[in-house]
Amino acid sequence: MSFDDLGLIPELLSATKRSGYTEPTPIQRLAIPPALSGRDILACAQTGTGKTATFALPLLQHLDRRAGNKPRLRGLILTPTRELAAQIDASLATYGENLDLWHTVIFGGVSDKAQIAELRRGVDILVATPGRLLDLMGRGYVPLDDIELFVLDEADRMLDMGFLPDVRRITRELPRDRQTLFFSATMPPEIRRLAEGLLDDPAVLAVAPVSSTVDLVEQRVFFVEKARKRKLLADLLHDPDVKHTLVFSRTKHGANRIVRDLAKAGIDAVAIHGNKSQSARTRALEAFRSGQLSVLVATDIAARGIDVDGVTHVINFDLPNVPETYVHRIGRTARAGASGVAWSFCANEERPHLASIETLIDKRLSPRATG
Ligand code: AMP
Repeated sequence: MSFDDLGLIPELLSATKRSGYTEPTPIQRLAIPPALSGRDILACAQTGTGKTATFALPLLQHLDRRAGNKPRLRGLILTPTRELAAQIDASLATYGENLDLWHTVIFGGVSDKAQIAELRRGVDILVATPGRLLDLMGRGYVPLDDIELFVLDEADRMLDMGFLPDVRRITRELPRDRQTLFFSATMPPEIRRLAEGLLDDPAVLAVAPVSSTVDLVEQRVFFVEKARKRKLLADLLHDPDVKHTLVFSRTKHGANRIVRDLAKAGIDAVAIHGNKSQSARTRALEAFRSGQLSVLVATDIAARGIDVDGVTHVINFDLPNVPETYVHRIGRTARAGASGVAWSFCANEERPHLASIETLIDKRLSPRATG
């Protein structure tokens, strides 16, 4: 099936071509046609499956059909993190390039002045994280009475991050007569209940979980004493084939220490985690994305929603104690069908974590000599 068969208008088809997409991903094939026909969608799909285009294209098409002369807030996308929000807004700009729709993004951690100015000028589509949206709603800047299409992105992460009460406060204000596209990587009971309350006779769709899409990633484990991990990391990063690397640390403190140790070994790296300001995180991410910076050290929370193509290596400096986290981490490489490498450092005390990861992915990681 090609993009031409999905029922998209020419303005959006040409945008997918310009983005270099040759064919729709599985979730796009399954979800775009019913979404275009106006149905609610319950989609089980994670980052990396092409889910952003899955909701952005139908949203743009729906709003374009009924565009008036003046922007009016008719589309709302709610997403858990600032990074995801910024990326979705950038995707709307790309896919909507040929359409006359206004969109903007609001999130916390930065001044609200520019965000309020944009809202006052008028937008058709708003991308938002829950906290800042509630804040600006409470101050009267975000009228939700005309919302025709609502997207809830990464619902299970909203739950993980404690945002479900905020999400409920927001959805209570939405008009009943609307279309809703609901995305979640997993469907724990709380998320099912939330979906039941928000969706009307949805098309229920699921695509392969990351644990099978990560087959494209070459995975290896290094059995290494804790004290030797830093030296091993520096040695690996000195290899010129290791070009664009995301290093994971379980803690913020650990991430800072890794950056300091790498600096001593002559390797430039930057850490991103929750203690860094939003502007520092954005700067680091931009430098990494543009290739100026080749090593980014991240904690799991900070890495949520990082969408950078061309990550050649993911290195797990520590093994996560939740095995699904391993799958999320290594999903940062091998995106959209490219191949990638994931190396994990495993000290003796981390062997039990390794065992649960291997059970989850149903595969034993081959060991690599540490030299
Ligand atoms: P997402 O799951 O939305 O985070 O998308 C993951 C990555 O896949 C992004 O870098 C998209 O640009 C890319 N992508 C989305 N749809 C397609 C497609 N049909 N073909 C190739 N790449 C795609």
